[in-house]
Amino acid sequence: MIARDLRSGVEALGNMIAEAKSIVPFTGAGISTETGIPDFRSPGGLWTRNRPIPFDEFVSSQEARDEAWRRRFAMEPVFAAAKPGRGHRALASLYKAGKIPAIITQNIDNLHQDSGVPDEQVIELHGNNSYARCLGCHERYEIDPIRVAFLRDETLPVCDQCGGMIKTATISFGQGMPEHEMRRAQEAVLACDLLLVAGSSLVVFPAAGFPAMAKQNGAKLVIVNREPTDLDDMADLVLNAELGPTLGAAVGLN
Ligand SMILES: [Zn+2]
Repeated sequence: MIARDLRSGVEALGNMIAEAKSIVPFTGAGISTETGIPDFRSPGGLWTRNRPIPFDEFVSSQEARDEAWRRRFAMEPVFAAAKPGRGHRALASLYKAGKIPAIITQNIDNLHQDSGVPDEQVIELHGNNSYARCLGCHERYEIDPIRVAFLRDETLPVCDQCGGMIKTATISFGQGMPEHEMRRAQEAVLACDLLLVAGSSLVVFPAAGFPAMAKQNGAKLVIVNREPTDLDDMADLVLNAELGPTLGAAVGLN
C-alpha cells in the first residue's frame, strides 16, 4: 500500500515499528546521500564518469591497482567528512531499544557503525571502504598508513604476513558476493517480522530477492525510498520520501 500522504505514512510506519518484535533494516545509497556520500551508481555519479575497476584487473595489473588507490584517496575528504544522518540515527535508536538484531546494508561507508551499531551487527553485502584487507590472508589494514606511503612515492601496500596484495575491504565488480555475509543476511531476513527497506531501489541482486523472501516467510515489508521501486506492489507500506525526516519522525527522533 502506498502511503496517501507523508503524515499518515509516517504514522503507519511508527505503528508497524511499535508492533514489530524483530526489525531488519535493509539500507542502500539513499540513506547516505543525505550525509554527503555520493551515490556512485547514480547518473553523473563516480561510476558513470570513471569506469569501475573489475576485480580481475586489480589483481593482474599494477596500473589498475595504482588507479584504484588513487581514486580511494581522492574520495578521502568526502568519506572523512560524512557523519551519520538522521536515518542512521533513527535506526541506531531502534537498535538500542532492542528492536533490531542486525542491519543489512549495500553501503560501504561505515556510517551504521559510526551511529553506534556494533560492527558485528552490520551485515555489509558490498564490504567496507574505511579499511583494507589482504587478498591472500584477509589481514586487516588501516587506510592512513597506506595513504602516506602511496602519496610519498606511489608505493603499493603489501601484506607483511603473507606478501599478498592489499585492497580496500569492498566487494569489487567481478569479485562475487561474500558468502558468509549473504548467509547471515538471509538468516536475518528469515528471522524478522518486519523488513524495512531504507534507501535502496532494489534493482541489484541479491538485494532484490530479500523482500520476497521476507514476505513468503510471513514478515511485513516496508519500503522507504525517494523513488518508486519495482517491488512496491509487494510491500505492506510504501513511502516515497526522504529517508532521514521519514525514519526520524516515525521513531520520534529529531
Ligand atoms: Zn596477507
